[in-house]
Amino acid sequence: MPANSMEELVSLCKRRGFIFQGSEIYGGLQGFYDYGPLGVELKNNIKAAWWRANVYERDDMEGLDSSIIMHRMVLRHSGHEATFSDPMVDNKKNNKRYRLDHLVKDQKADVIEKVAAGIGEDASNFPAVVAALIKQPAKASEVLKAAGVRDAFSGEVGDWTEPKPFNMMFKTTIGPVADEESYGYLRPETAQGIFTNFKNVVDSTSRRLPFGIAQIGKAFRNEITPRNFIFRVRELEQMEIEFFCVPGTDEDWHQHWLDKRLAWWEAQGIPRSKIEILDVPPEDLAHYSKRTYDLMYDYPTLGHEEIEGIANRSDYDLGSHTKSQSELNLVATVSENNDSIARLTIPHPDTNKPVVPFVIEPSAGVDRALLAVLSEAFTKETLENGNERIVLKFKPHLAPIKVAVIPLARNREEITTVAKAIKTELQGLGLGRVLYEDSGNIGKAYRRHDEVGTPYCVTVDFDTIGQNESGDAALKGTVTVRDRDTLAQERVKISELAGWIREKLR
Ligand code: ATP
Repeated sequence: MPANSMEELVSLCKRRGFIFQGSEIYGGLQGFYDYGPLGVELKNNIKAAWWRANVYERDDMEGLDSSIIMHRMVLRHSGHEATFSDPMVDNKKNNKRYRLDHLVKDQKADVIEKVAAGIGEDASNFPAVVAALIKQPAKASEVLKAAGVRDAFSGEVGDWTEPKPFNMMFKTTIGPVADEESYGYLRPETAQGIFTNFKNVVDSTSRRLPFGIAQIGKAFRNEITPRNFIFRVRELEQMEIEFFCVPGTDEDWHQHWLDKRLAWWEAQGIPRSKIEILDVPPEDLAHYSKRTYDLMYDYPTLGHEEIEGIANRSDYDLGSHTKSQSELNLVATVSENNDSIARLTIPHPDTNKPVVPFVIEPSAGVDRALLAVLSEAFTKETLENGNERIVLKFKPHLAPIKVAVIPLARNREEITTVAKAIKTELQGLGLGRVLYEDSGNIGKAYRRHDEVGTPYCVTVDFDTIGQNESGDAALKGTVTVRDRDTLAQERVKISELAGWIREKLR
């Protein structure tokens, strides 16, 4: 059974060293988290699984790692300077600031009804309620007060300002002279680095349509209300693909990527039944999107929330960043660009005429993926002897620690020498973390490794070294391998152990 609540996950993450609050020793920084010894392994394994499926196992993909700080023109022409904002309201009584939709959504049902009625919408259509509040800011301020919308911090009805757009990009100065011109932005999505490198990749790889560029990296969003642990943070990591295709084939590719991505989530232990596909209504689409499917995972406590967006971005992005826009028969409505020095076209595979491709973008958050993987792996079981155990049933390729090698007696050199040699051999396989585990007794070691999701514990005992007097001489040169999920223990020859483990962890 997956985790029941977010609290259960947060507590496990802290206890076992998956995730810590950022800048904790100075009181913490809201919206920033640090990944600890196990968290970094889990995160790396998720990213590696994504890269393997989307780059190594395909013939139509290239990889990229572009810079985080970008020229302000990139974010101007991408549309982010003008539109990458969320609506915020302030409570004049205590100067607390909230994201409008979050503020209203967190109210009691009768208050939401009153807000909806006040702004002339039906409460069952929440996005329409929010849209109406944004459209009529002066009225919205009155409606929020009259409906009795409470401030989560003070618990009292707030004196709400008019909703205002708040741009979520982090701006930073570049170089030693801080003047009007010397600023850039921390990218709010990795995608823009792919669009600005489109021509470089095409020219250096001779790619023809259709093909994609994949990138994993940090993105930064100054969220008004970061919350729900690592679900909504200000420094996040994304795994993004921009897949370039011939206009007219975009809808088929959109479907292709929807299917591929759902299959990938399933391979990471997220059952298909836990993901709802939201066909985003036209009025809620981002400025670049022709159509978007949001994959909504059923998070504990939160319910269905977005884990990945798969957007048809049409020819909006390359069309916005290219020079000579008027000569290119663009479908999307783009703002004029007199700053770009590149023509972002590629020969049409049939006619060889230059064309601006359409783009399908599967964009998944690493942090939200990690939270979902943890949540699905989390299992509380009552064993046959009545004891309860917590076990993280990760898919083996995602487990932070792959194998723990345990000497049954840590003071017997014949045993520890063999255990250390096995540990070194398994480390050499390059499968990930392999630990020598000699703290506490064997029962405690098993429990600890269940709780961090180690799929296999290898125990070296007296049988291994042929010194179990009542034992079976044939067991000499063998070890016990314990399976995390079934608890089954199997004797495996040391000489065959590396192959056995490699096969199981494939
Ligand atoms: P939301 O509606 O939840 O704010 P979004 O629609 O703005 O998300 P996208 O711009 O589509 O998100 O970003 C792609 C992916 O990046 C999301 O599906 C999510 O997994 C991840 N993501 C976006 N914002 C955050 C955030 N603040 N914290 C963690 N992950 C995020």
